[in-house]
Amino acid sequence: MNIKTHLTRFLTPKTHKKSTESIKFIFVTGGVVSSIGKGLAAASIGTLLETRKLKVAMTKMDPYINVDPGTMSPFQHGEVFVTDDGAETDLDLGHYQRFTKANLSKKNSFTSGKVYDTVISRERRGDYLGGTVQVIPHITDQIKQKIREASVGVDVSIVEVGGTVGDIESLPFLEAIRQFRNEIGRENSLFVHVTLIPFIKAAGELKTKPTQHSVKELLSIGIQPDILICRSEMPLSLSMKEKISIFCNVEKDCVIDACDVSHIYKLPLEFHKQRVDQKILDFLNISSHEANLKDWQEIVRVLENPKTHIKIGLIGKYIGLQDSYKSVYEALVHGGISNSARVEIIPIDSEELKTEDVLETLDNLHGVLIPGGFGDRGTEGKIIAIKTAREKHIPLFGICLGMQLASIEFARNVLNLKDASSEELDSNAQHKIIHIMEKQKNVSQKGGTMRLGAYECKLKKETKTSKAYGGKDIIFERHRHRYEFNNEYRDAFEKEGFITSGESPDGSLVEIMENTSHPWFIGCQFHPELKSRPTDVHPLFKSFVKACIDYKNSNK
Ligand code: GLN
Repeated sequence: MNIKTHLTRFLTPKTHKKSTESIKFIFVTGGVVSSIGKGLAAASIGTLLETRKLKVAMTKMDPYINVDPGTMSPFQHGEVFVTDDGAETDLDLGHYQRFTKANLSKKNSFTSGKVYDTVISRERRGDYLGGTVQVIPHITDQIKQKIREASVGVDVSIVEVGGTVGDIESLPFLEAIRQFRNEIGRENSLFVHVTLIPFIKAAGELKTKPTQHSVKELLSIGIQPDILICRSEMPLSLSMKEKISIFCNVEKDCVIDACDVSHIYKLPLEFHKQRVDQKILDFLNISSHEANLKDWQEIVRVLENPKTHIKIGLIGKYIGLQDSYKSVYEALVHGGISNSARVEIIPIDSEELKTEDVLETLDNLHGVLIPGGFGDRGTEGKIIAIKTAREKHIPLFGICLGMQLASIEFARNVLNLKDASSEELDSNAQHKIIHIMEKQKNVSQKGGTMRLGAYECKLKKETKTSKAYGGKDIIFERHRHRYEFNNEYRDAFEKEGFITSGESPDGSLVEIMENTSHPWFIGCQFHPELKSRPTDVHPLFKSFVKACIDYKNSNK
């Protein structure tokens, strides 16, 4: 199957019957502060609707001016999530991927920057026929157009508005969804507001005032929320819900308690207990099947009753912000679910990893994962850790930059090419084991120009990689990089047992490498974490966690 067919299969909604007229829309906004789990709430609503056999679309609209988050630092914005069709998107799309089966494509993530970009290009083309181009109606019309384009062929389209109500930047998005409801009618649209009910220690009380203000702010824009999802440290009492209901003009049983949970995958179950899905169906006048939550109940059961416990070191330079490696963290948890294990992730800052302390650091770990990254900071620390893992037979998983560094380590210490490096890290190195891809040589623009999205990869038979993938010949995985393994060194690596276990169909690009004299030492040029779901665990994560458990058991 070629990549076009693959993309068509994944990105084209199966039913084209529905025009946007028959689609129901749920708009999710956030109040009081950011980072209260708006994306998770939206994703969990998606899960619940899917368990009732409804087809959903999930879209994130972000109010910042960057055309996409591809050029933003992971320190600031967290991970960049990549879709099959090569869009660099907000990490909330990762939640959508893990919680639902929604098709995620370029259309499902857009920013103010992208909206303005489209409108300004049209203005330059002369499309507005001499008119003055304004926020209302031109920007808001473009937002509504993009919402429609992202919603083709589904029963329910869930659209999350990034940022917090009250931000200047969010206003055009809020205005657009207000107009949207007017156009499609009450029975076809729903406003869900995710808000914070803070606990004030000095008073020993939960406080509803910030939520009241946030809802007032929404009302001043013309949006009355139908459902309030209230994030809090402890359950809301009945009287508290009544108070919120009265002050915010929301039905009492639409004030939903979203108290902190031990595992995020419990959220759909918690919402279902409070009948969120039924409420939504009632509001939108949808008749559907009963919810079937068996898979999610099973996931939570395994998470709460693990048979074993392993520790995996995640060695990176963006360790300070957990969101920088969000999908890697989650994929490791998924690997644990499929092996009935609790995976404890130990974040290790690669810049602080020096030769003397590596052994001690890795000594109580059962596996090491080197995630993707850019630039040379912290790479030497990762290389020292890779050497130790290789020599001590600790399972090692290298992802993208991780694979590149694993091959540099091998070149330096096994092939004895002492100045081996990557063109990205040292452009003067004599042995550039990793070099710039041919197609990247003339690229000068930074945004959206890497090798991005899903590519086909051919697996080599009788390798650990092929076994992990259940004997498949062909796989599709998502990429985000500019550099690649230098084929001049392929033979030397193969001779010493660091083999190519996956390559591009024409054999020109090394996609997966495995060390045959090690129990589990695999590097891949793509990002497998982006395709893992708790309900459909990525084969490499499943196999890696299994190897870590085996390592633990053999070292008891
Ligand atoms: N910086 C490396 C490259 O561009 C690896 C990228 C990554 O890890 N995603 O090839």
